[in-house]
Amino acid sequence: MGGAPLAGKVALITGASSGIGAATGRVFAARGATVVLTARREERLRDLVAGLHATGARAGYHVLDVCRGDEVRRAVEQTVERYGRLDVAFNNAGVAFDPSTPLHLLDDAAYDRVMDTNVRGVWNCLRHEIGAMLAGGGGAIVNTSSVGGLVASSAGAPYIASKHAVIGLTRAAAVEYAGDGIRVNAIAPGLTRSEMIDEVFTRSPAAEQRAYRSAPQHRAAAPEEVAEAAAWLCGDGAGFVTGATLAVDGGRTAW
Ligand code: NAP
Repeated sequence: MGGAPLAGKVALITGASSGIGAATGRVFAARGATVVLTARREERLRDLVAGLHATGARAGYHVLDVCRGDEVRRAVEQTVERYGRLDVAFNNAGVAFDPSTPLHLLDDAAYDRVMDTNVRGVWNCLRHEIGAMLAGGGGAIVNTSSVGGLVASSAGAPYIASKHAVIGLTRAAAVEYAGDGIRVNAIAPGLTRSEMIDEVFTRSPAAEQRAYRSAPQHRAAAPEEVAEAAAWLCGDGAGFVTGATLAVDGGRTAW
């Protein structure tokens, strides 16, 4: 891909302190975007931003919890105050779920924790980002769902439900704002190397082998492979793509 397809664009990324979000910060910056990395772990964000500055990229960070609407609103406001606009958002923060307890034995707290981060978090981001994008004349948003948003898996019912909900929010927002120059899409990553997945596999090495057996490419994605898909969806080359969910899953949901 030639040129810098995100040149001049200002991008906000949630879940940017590790894994897919951190990789997306690097990929967006390499494509010419000014990036604002967000998450709860400040030290991580500070180090990642220092790394981006060392490459000559324009980057900043903002500490936030996506479950808190006021914190998300402040991050969007500060991005606009500092960089003048918000063109691109990657709503990627999410938590996994320990599926070892069967659904009928789960309590409300287990359900709430996953839904609060994975669904309310995206909801909080969408409403504040869209407000800023309307003021700026348009934009592009990508929400991170999962193959668990397309089909059921062993990831646990609350996680599967949360990632299906992300696709619902994506479609509804895409239709509502299509006439305003705002595109909203989702990506559905398959197994991707990250802290989240390393933690699951450390708990259960057998699960790792099972996962590779059921993956057509018999491997996990590198986070950069997922980031590349998000970058394309956020760029003007995807101008007629909205309301879509792009599976970045090595063929997992084609099987
Ligand atoms: P990860 O390395 O664990 O990253 C998760 C990110 O979300 C971290 O930056 C974390 O940062 C942030 N986060 C979690 N809760 C947050 C909160 N309440 N407020 C703000 N930030 C929060 O895992 P990952 O695999 O890159 O996950 C990124 C996204 O991809 C998630 O939505 C996940 O569900 C999805 N996904 C992953 C896979 C996979 O196989 N890895 C597959 C499908 C979908 P802090 O802890 O610093 O806040």
